[in-house]
This record gives sequence, C-alpha cells and structure tokens, in this order.
Amino acid sequence: MEIKKIDFSNPQKSAEYLNITEEEIRKIHNKIVFSYETYLKAYGVKKLWRDDIPTDCTDSEFVSYLDAKELQLIFLYKYLNCFVHKDIVSAFVRKYIKNAAFDQQVRHLGSQNFWYVLNKGVKVPNADITVPSGYNYLVSIEMPNPKAVAEALKRTGRLGARNFEELKMAYGNKCATCGIEEGKKDTRNEGIVVLQQGHMNPRKPLTLDNTIPQCQYCNQTYKDYFVFNEFGRVIAVNNPLILLKSPKTVQDEMITVLLKERENK
Ligand SMILES: [Zn+2]
Repeated sequence: MEIKKIDFSNPQKSAEYLNITEEEIRKIHNKIVFSYETYLKAYGVKKLWRDDIPTDCTDSEFVSYLDAKELQLIFLYKYLNCFVHKDIVSAFVRKYIKNAAFDQQVRHLGSQNFWYVLNKGVKVPNADITVPSGYNYLVSIEMPNPKAVAEALKRTGRLGARNFEELKMAYGNKCATCGIEEGKKDTRNEGIVVLQQGHMNPRKPLTLDNTIPQCQYCNQTYKDYFVFNEFGRVIAVNNPLILLKSPKTVQDEMITVLLKERENK
C-alpha cells in the first residue's frame, strides 16, 4: 500500500497543502472536540484547547485562540493516514502563531498527549511499512494511543479489559504467575516469552473473566493440574493426577485427610 507523503518536496504542492481555510480549521477543531469528548477523554488523552473560546467569534478570531499543539493535530487530521513531515507541520503552525518554534515537537502528540499519532520507526496499522524519519502519521481521532489504553488498564485492572490483548496490558504484559514480561528471553526454556491464555479454572470455558495471561513455561508446567486466582496463584487442585507425583507418605496423608473430611460431613 502506497502512503502519501505531505512535505516540502514539491513547492507548488506544499503551498496547496498549507492552504487550509479558517472555516475548515474551525470545522476540524469541532470534530476533534467531539471525538475527544465521545471516545478519548476516558482514556486520559490530553485536551489541546482552551475552554473559553467565545462561540460567537469570527473564524479568523477563532484560529487566534488555538494552541500550537492543536494546530499540529488539525494539520495531521487534514492529512489523515498520510506521512506528514514535521517541517510542513511547523510551517502551518507558524502561519497562525508567528513566534512559534521552527521545529514543532509533533512527536509529543502521541508520546505525551496520547493522541493516536505514530512517530518515526513505528509500524502503520494494517500496512507493511514504518513511519519514515522526520514524518508523523495520524491513525485516527476516534481511538486513543495504545499507550493511553495500557495506562488506563493499569489503573482499572483486569475488569476494564475487553479482549485478551487488553487483559495482557492490565497485567503490564507480564505472566500473572511468574511475572516474566512478554518479548523477553526466558532462560528457563531458552525461548522468547509469548503470553498465552491460561485458565483460572480449567473446568470452565476460557472466557475473559476466567483467563489470566501466562507464559509458555508456566502454562506447560502447571498444565490443568491447578485452579488459579486472578493474581496467578494456585488456590486448588483441579486434576487429581498431580497427587501421584507426591511421595507415597504424602499420598497416604491425603487419603487420611480426605476420609476424615468425609466422615465429618
Ligand atoms: Zn510464567
């Protein structure tokens, strides 16, 4: 898939790119505010505008109220799903804020303000390409940056997760049982950690509320022998065959315990 580049490589084109009417800027602002209120606020995405912009002002008055960061986002939105060079973003911002820096820090929109803006080297979703150096890419204004989702899930915990990917985030992408992180090398089996869907109770279906993320090592070691709690700790035996791994003396104790327990009931 070819992704369009918005930059200064063609002087005539770049003048066209920069030519966005004040009326359109205001419309894009309204779209961004709507999306923020509807989809993004709950995830801790940062608001880039002030609340005291008078609603009855003219379009040219309106743009004078805008912050540099929002102007960056407005320009990226105008060229949604394109690679947009930071120099042309900076030029756009400086059209409206004369003393703004020549080198606008567009990358902070994603990394610090949690808008879904990709920085250099990051893979574009559903495309086999990464963002070239000097460019940024706005994926959507209706979805927060995955970093914001991860942070929100850390706060809300596993109950906020809607799928296994989000469940992993709620656990900080770590095995619930041993704490090893996904993607790291596992010295116990010399593999790279991939978190799997582990049953909490192996006798119940693998629904999200019965799932914990477990590394291959833990998943294969514990098999279906045990029942786990949400913290990845063993709370009961599930498969009695595990008892056969115990020494005869312990097995005898178990029989005694079980018979005594039955007698008492
Ligand atoms: Zn583990």
